[in-house]
Amino acid sequence: MLTDNHGRKINYLRLAVTDRCNLRCFYCMPEDGLNWLSRAQLMTYEEMLQTCALLVGMGIEKIRITGGEPFVRKDIMKLLTAISKLDGLKELTLTTNGVLTAPHVSELKQIGVKSVNLSLDTLDAGRFFSITKRDEFANVMATMDELLKHDIEVKINAVVMDGKNTQDILPLVELTKELPVSVRFIEEMPFNGNGHVYSGIKWDYVRILDEIKTAYPGIVKLEDPEYSTSYNYQVPGYLGSVGIIAAYSRTFCGTCNRIRITPEGELKTCLYDNGVLNIKDQLRAGISEIDLKTMLLTTFNTRAKDGWEAEQLRTENVRIHESMATIGG
Ligand code: SAM
Repeated sequence: MLTDNHGRKINYLRLAVTDRCNLRCFYCMPEDGLNWLSRAQLMTYEEMLQTCALLVGMGIEKIRITGGEPFVRKDIMKLLTAISKLDGLKELTLTTNGVLTAPHVSELKQIGVKSVNLSLDTLDAGRFFSITKRDEFANVMATMDELLKHDIEVKINAVVMDGKNTQDILPLVELTKELPVSVRFIEEMPFNGNGHVYSGIKWDYVRILDEIKTAYPGIVKLEDPEYSTSYNYQVPGYLGSVGIIAAYSRTFCGTCNRIRITPEGELKTCLYDNGVLNIKDQLRAGISEIDLKTMLLTTFNTRAKDGWEAEQLRTENVRIHESMATIGG
């Protein structure tokens, strides 16, 4: 079992396979995109697979593929299929915006994907366009239908943004009446790719819950699964459930079991650190597996206590300036 210097189990890897995205959600990246990574800067699929195999051998049990948008990287199903075959891996999952995903759902089912996080901040096509700058609402909804048809669990990620989509909170809760989906409201984080740092947020988890409780006073608290980042609830009689993720308030660091690898191969042991080891550089320098393993273990043993400490320790740039697309949200 892998543990860190604070006694927390590490068994979950989030691997971002590209920084590119086919949406332009304003809270994630500027409308004219990012300074995209070149092919040489990206980890190759071989490097990703080699890294995943090593980490699974060390104790990683769950891998989530994210990005950028995973489905904009060519042949992503090949990587997913190869990872799904790793001995010792218990769960392979992914986070997607759903724009290009629907045609791949039956193959995802075949390779054993049981749950998918689908990003959807509104049920209104007009607001979808104003948030994402792309007219793709129908494709996202088609992906949701397809996932449900294939009995793949759907977790909807909705970032709550003051003045943009707070009117969507209750309709999204209402979606759980007829559909067995889990709608998770996420506090907006400062990873918007334009260096705009907030001194706080207007819609934190307490306010989001208050808004929901006002309309649904009978909503009940569910038991949160181990390592859950969300506080989970259900409206009695509804098929789905509702979660709130305090991503900005960082209330879940004490049980954090996850590490991240960016498209450039940078290992992050906290969402808020700015990278603690570049795995791609080590692989390209010809490091042996045993040496890489030792380096990884050292890194896990010097992990920040929480997201506040990690943010304080950022070396390159004290201020957060990157986009969530380069981190793997
Ligand atoms: N393209 C995929 C998608 O849209 O799901 C995966 C990558 S995206 C960066 C992963 C998640 O991060 C999405 O649910 C997105 O809403 C969330 N995200 C991006 N920027 C964020 C921010 N500034 N605050 C909170 N969540 C954010």
